[in-house]
Amino acid sequence: MSNTDLRNNALVWFRHDLRLEDNQALVAACEYAETHQSDVRAIFFVTPKQWASHDVAPIQLDFIERQLNQIAIELAELGIPMDICQINDFSEVTGLLSQYISDWQIGRVFATSEPEFNERCRDASVIAAGVNLILKPQHCLLAPLSVLNLAGEMYKVFTPFAKKWRAIAKREAIQTLPRPAAQAAPLPKPSLVTFNCEKRCSSQWPIGEQAAQQKLRQFAQQKAADYQDCRDFPAIDATSQLSAYLVIGILSPRQCIQALLSHYPDALVHDECPGRCWLNELIWREFYRHLLVAFPKLSKSSNFNVLADNIVWRNDPHEFQAWCQGRTGYPLVDAAMRQLNQTGWMHNRLRMVTASFLTKHLLIDWRWGERYFKQNLIDGDLAANNGGWQWSAGTGCDAQPYFRVFNPISQCEKFDPTGAFIRTYLPELESVDLKLIHKLKIHSQAKLFGDTDYASPIVDHKFARTRAINVLSAMKKGGAEIRHKPQLDRASSVDLDKEIFG
Ligand SMILES: Cc1cc2nc3c(=O)[nH]c(=O)nc-3n(C[C@H](O)[C@H](O)[C@H](O)COP(=O)(O)OP(=O)(O)OC[C@H]3O[C@@H](n4cnc5c(N)ncnc54)[C@H](O)[C@@H]3O)c2cc1C
Repeated sequence: MSNTDLRNNALVWFRHDLRLEDNQALVAACEYAETHQSDVRAIFFVTPKQWASHDVAPIQLDFIERQLNQIAIELAELGIPMDICQINDFSEVTGLLSQYISDWQIGRVFATSEPEFNERCRDASVIAAGVNLILKPQHCLLAPLSVLNLAGEMYKVFTPFAKKWRAIAKREAIQTLPRPAAQAAPLPKPSLVTFNCEKRCSSQWPIGEQAAQQKLRQFAQQKAADYQDCRDFPAIDATSQLSAYLVIGILSPRQCIQALLSHYPDALVHDECPGRCWLNELIWREFYRHLLVAFPKLSKSSNFNVLADNIVWRNDPHEFQAWCQGRTGYPLVDAAMRQLNQTGWMHNRLRMVTASFLTKHLLIDWRWGERYFKQNLIDGDLAANNGGWQWSAGTGCDAQPYFRVFNPISQCEKFDPTGAFIRTYLPELESVDLKLIHKLKIHSQAKLFGDTDYASPIVDHKFARTRAINVLSAMKKGGAEIRHKPQLDRASSVDLDKEIFG
């Protein structure tokens, strides 16, 4: 670029927005550069130590690495060089970014904001160090703290939040931004970067915006209408499977909503509109993200409901291991956990069933399950995972009441009536009569499945249900029968951590 004003180059700092289309930070950087007749650069920080402390799953890291390499190539075609800097954790970002800004004469840095506490602290310290950082709140359609009740506060119940969210969204022009034009002559193809951390192959999830958008279009066109009726059956391919794309930002929520509205323009307006049910799930996603910003304690593993601090969890490490490995003797729970372990993804109905089983049947602290999910899910996401776990345990905002305990046997009968899902992940039950699987309760603790290696139930359902209600009643308003038994001390919980999570 001939007229380059070197003091005013623009920098796009990519984080969980790994796309070129509908990327407000990228577009703003290009506009800034155009105004100042300057250049655009891009940067990404590889932070293995931070990711380890956030329990980011090796399969998600592989997915991020693949997509990052892809967008580095696409940016080079637009004449935008991308620097991928390998550091340890967020504490090194401010120093490195300040140096980079001075080396490359950057006038302004553009990024998509993030709702998590550590990420927000990182950005705050970058700004405090004098970096001119412009944040675009594009991880949601509607920015956190923009959907408030009449008192100006964040809603604590989903239904009125969703109503207000829809009312605001209706007034918005839901338009996505195109990929920016080339900023300069194409650059040589960058060499591939390899993250210096543990990864697990994610190749069954195609990367690239085209692949993601095609998946989205197909879902909106072919499956969104039946979503409400079919979404709870794990043997049916009825959900979008777009969560991983949303989490690392290959797709924006705006793109998803626009695609849905292009087929179902009334989804924002009418309850009965096909497509409304899927829209609601995207609103749940926004609800949990808004909560994370409004209540930073949620990023710090705190119960949303303070009464839940009184629960005395059993936390049996052997039972936890059995749950993790899919050896509880409850076929739906075990098949679900094996789906997670084998594929890095789990169906939503099963996330609810397994989370309820861990927290209610086994009375194991939801934080153990939350962590295990995060360490293994390709779509691991603090807001949705924390929201889902606290909902299931009954400790969360607008959560399932503590006295509602999912029955893992009737859930199985209802949502996997032919046993197709169970048999995919539990080959040892291949030839077992379906009636036996669905009538598990009659046989209780007995050796149920004849000669198979399949485990007997780890706990009797009726017994576990009563025990859960008794213990979890510590959350009753007024705190009746609250017992203050000391939780595990710090040292033993560190040892346990090692034993359980390695
Ligand atoms: C215990 C538990 C843990 C969970 N952990 C995560 C997680 O780490 N990451 C994650 O993205 N989702 C999580 N969820 C929510 C949900 O299970 C997944 O988003 C969904 O299964 C992903 O599949 P899909 O893309 O086919 O979803 P669809 O059914 O097609 O839904 C569309 C999108 O809406 C969003 N969404 C759907 N349901 C929810 C929900 N209940 N809460 C928030 N967002 C939702 C997701 O972005 C999803 O991709 C969790 C739910 C529970 C009960």
